[in-house]
Amino acid sequence: MTERCTRLAPSPTGALHLGNVRTFLVNWALARQNGWSILMRIEDLDHPRVKPETIESTREELQWLGLDWEHEMPLQSTDLQPCHAALEQLGATGRIYRCDLSRSEIERSAPHDDEQQATFPAKLRPADAGKRIECPSLTCNWRLMVDDCTEVIDDQFAGTHQFALSKSCGDFPVWTAARKPGADGGPTYQLAVVVDDARQAVTDVVRGDDLLESAARQQMLYRLLDRPCPNWWHVPLVRGPDGKRLAKRHGDTRLASFRTRGCTAEQIIGLMAYWCGMTATRTTMPATDFLSAFDLAKLPSEDVTLGPEDLQWLC
Ligand code: GLU
Repeated sequence: MTERCTRLAPSPTGALHLGNVRTFLVNWALARQNGWSILMRIEDLDHPRVKPETIESTREELQWLGLDWEHEMPLQSTDLQPCHAALEQLGATGRIYRCDLSRSEIERSAPHDDEQQATFPAKLRPADAGKRIECPSLTCNWRLMVDDCTEVIDDQFAGTHQFALSKSCGDFPVWTAARKPGADGGPTYQLAVVVDDARQAVTDVVRGDDLLESAARQQMLYRLLDRPCPNWWHVPLVRGPDGKRLAKRHGDTRLASFRTRGCTAEQIIGLMAYWCGMTATRTTMPATDFLSAFDLAKLPSEDVTLGPEDLQWLC
């Protein structure tokens, strides 16, 4: 039997907020209850948005809450060779093509609403798309041709979801050119996460359900790269009072800010336990108690809304 393994994969693009905390805590509790090993992988590929100081603070804050992990992976950006190899593999299957169109150029030919990114229309594919490419240049932008079929995600928490990728996103980027001409570009999140989860033998991916559609893209990549697909566990998000995913616009919900104001780890975890359907009221709770009481069956299937009483509890 293969050993099960999950990962905590924070992006150091901002400080941890209450929404991230809830997802990481669920991920950790699920792993510990089921005897999966846990690896920590900082996903620092989103270069212009990376805030280097949050690399260390994220680890430290999760440990302060009481989370732990067995393996520490190198920063994603320091080991891109496996992603080069995957790009070559995709090139050899005739699945990628060069595409330097900007987002606004794509949006002009693809009607979309403001909340969502435009679907890349197949009419923008170059005439030679589908041609096999030997050794694709690492300095170019490469896009992956999606199948005109339905990708079925069998999620262990969210249930079964179907995505027609040609409609939900269309061909999507797998490699982006560097800003500096002539320098190597790098893999997009979609390619890097598949390559790294596969080579680090991750069997169970637990994360927010805003990434459910991404799972469909990733599942297709697993198939094309001939690697085993992990089990998916997409859990609901924490939203602000306006119904939008928790973010800066909802004020300061960073863990660090509550901590500076004297809030304890037990208060934070107690709120998470309440949000996870484990307690009828907000209480204080150490991570060890959260772990023994966590029950995935009680996790609400709807998103949680951060309200004034939650903030009152923490302050
Ligand atoms: N690093 C990603 C994020 O923080 C997580 C990606 C994933 O779990 O696949 O949004």
